[in-house]
Amino acid sequence: MDKNKAIKNLDNVIKKIEFARLNVSDHHIVQIVAVSKYSTSKDISILYEAGQRAFGENKVQDLKQKQEELNDLPISWHFIGTLQKNKINNLIDLNPTLMHSLDNLDLAKELDKKLKIKNKKMNCLLQINSANEDSKSGVNPQEAVEIYNEIKEKYKNIILKGVMSIGAHSEDKKLIEDSFKSTKNIFDNCNDAKICSMGMSSDFETAILNGSNMVRVGRSLFN
Ligand SMILES: *Cc1c(COP(=O)(O)O)cnc(C)c1O
Repeated sequence: MDKNKAIKNLDNVIKKIEFARLNVSDHHIVQIVAVSKYSTSKDISILYEAGQRAFGENKVQDLKQKQEELNDLPISWHFIGTLQKNKINNLIDLNPTLMHSLDNLDLAKELDKKLKIKNKKMNCLLQINSANEDSKSGVNPQEAVEIYNEIKEKYKNIILKGVMSIGAHSEDKKLIEDSFKSTKNIFDNCNDAKICSMGMSSDFETAILNGSNMVRVGRSLFN
């Protein structure tokens, strides 16, 4: 990817985000996390030059490698993938800006325990399986608010900032919208939740129109 391509991709995504967010309200601000999991450090640095500052990876090992390769750039790094228990300590050591994929209570318990030992905290989002798909991780929407409150109550080294979900895997726009609406409803019912992370390349405009304030965009930025 060259610089002109990066600028063009970013401008296109920003224009679409602007249109959608202004439809919600002048004051509805949407953050972009550029998902770099299919990309090289070189491409990340080119998109950085074009103005992008937040990047997301879904594997702890890749996050570590790219952070090392790009350690001269003040990037905020997000972790968006399923976290294996044996990788928890590695992720803690990488100090991610935000971990989007806290997807069950057991993981919360382990993560909190290991954070405590290292005397650290981590900003996290509770991942919700809003479309109830077997292929996806995340807590069940019916239990989400209760689990959110339980984590806040019990696991003090986890700083819960809100919720994350992946839109329904479907061609049916209505189903996709319903999955976003379900997550937004949970977001509105979680005390103090600030971040509602929903929307990827294929559906970020729909996600914003349904209340997302953080989108995770990969292919549309890096192609
Ligand atoms: C890969 C990924 C994205 C980005 O997907 P694109 O379709 O490339 O925009 C967003 N969120 C998660 C959790 C992902 O794994």
